[in-house]
Amino acid sequence: MKHDTSLDLKKTFRSSAPGYWADRDVSEEQWNDHVWQLKNRINSLSQLEEHLILSEEERSGVILSGNKLAMSITPHFFNLIDREDPNCPIRRQVIPRIEETWKADYELADPCGEDSHMPVPGLVHRYPDRVLFLVTTQCASYCRYCTRSRVVSGAGEQSLSTDYEAAFRYLEEHTEVRDVLLSGGDPLLFSDKKLEKILERLHAIEHIEFIRIGSRVPLFLPQRITPELCEMLQKYHPLFISVHANHPRELTTEVKAGLERLANTGIPLGNQSVLLKGVNDDVETMKSLVHKLLMCRVRPYYLYQLDLIKGSAHLQAAVAKGLEIIEGLRGHTTGYAVPQYVIDAPGGGGKVPVNPEYILQRNDERVMVRNYEGNQYEYPEPAVSPELILDY
Ligand SMILES: *Cc1c(COP(=O)(O)O)cnc(C)c1O
Repeated sequence: MKHDTSLDLKKTFRSSAPGYWADRDVSEEQWNDHVWQLKNRINSLSQLEEHLILSEEERSGVILSGNKLAMSITPHFFNLIDREDPNCPIRRQVIPRIEETWKADYELADPCGEDSHMPVPGLVHRYPDRVLFLVTTQCASYCRYCTRSRVVSGAGEQSLSTDYEAAFRYLEEHTEVRDVLLSGGDPLLFSDKKLEKILERLHAIEHIEFIRIGSRVPLFLPQRITPELCEMLQKYHPLFISVHANHPRELTTEVKAGLERLANTGIPLGNQSVLLKGVNDDVETMKSLVHKLLMCRVRPYYLYQLDLIKGSAHLQAAVAKGLEIIEGLRGHTTGYAVPQYVIDAPGGGGKVPVNPEYILQRNDERVMVRNYEGNQYEYPEPAVSPELILDY
């Protein structure tokens, strides 16, 4: 498959089918069936080599991935890979490389310090009023830079056995928790019935005002967003979903249709991108991505600086790049299209916003700011106290 990379920036929505499966006698019905997609995932070296010529770095990476983070790629997502481009931004996200076994001094197995904030297995309670509930370790495909590769896919160095009953009890007792974020792994890989059991239980807790799901299924496996799933989800409002797209090519016609079904269900959609070297670390790619997201009714939410996960240095972009991207978006395009750039502080400090500097000078009397074009403006602060003025 040859992708015209200039088309990525033109905001065209293309279908993922049939691509590499063109000569394989796959019916449209099968292609659009998420169970078929899951069964036909690429998860071995031989399957991969049927379609792609691998570099030595990739070949060794695939062989070693079985002891680290499994490889798995849905046919839908695999079809977005450009066979002719060794630096394909889709390929870099899902095909293992030998560099994953290299480790820098500052890299960690648990870069965000989640394990030390788990009151019960599977529940991360770091912020005062909200929790992260890790409901599964399985995903439709595995991102090579996964922040939870220590537990996700089952191939890593740790295991996670979420204790659902203990988690529900904790949440019932902790009345300060008003927001529960389901993640993992990917909660949308559960059957409708299994996911509903969790949502039902959370929805019944009076102090939980708000539920959200973090999922890459809408991008990896858009066929999973069935009308039946949407019908079930709409019983649990207010429900938000955060998806995870990194490159404009990921937004295909199938993905757009799935996201529209979720939006029509009344679910507000946000996107969380990870800044990745060679994938989306330039303003033009990111601009195309955020514009396509808005066209799919998804509001860009966060742009993450890459967590310092073991073996991710080859995908790490400089913070200066992230700042340059935000600077290239703010003011130049729709405010809704600009995500908040954050660093999840190593060691468990949580998400910290990082912003280009727009305040040039500030004292009690005035603030000197610059706008997106670099022009400077002065804004006077309110007088210290009205009485003070009268006294003069
Ligand atoms: C990201 C995260 C949340 C949610 O943070 P928001 O800024 O509210 O989206 C909650 N808990 C943990 C542990 C997180 O990492």
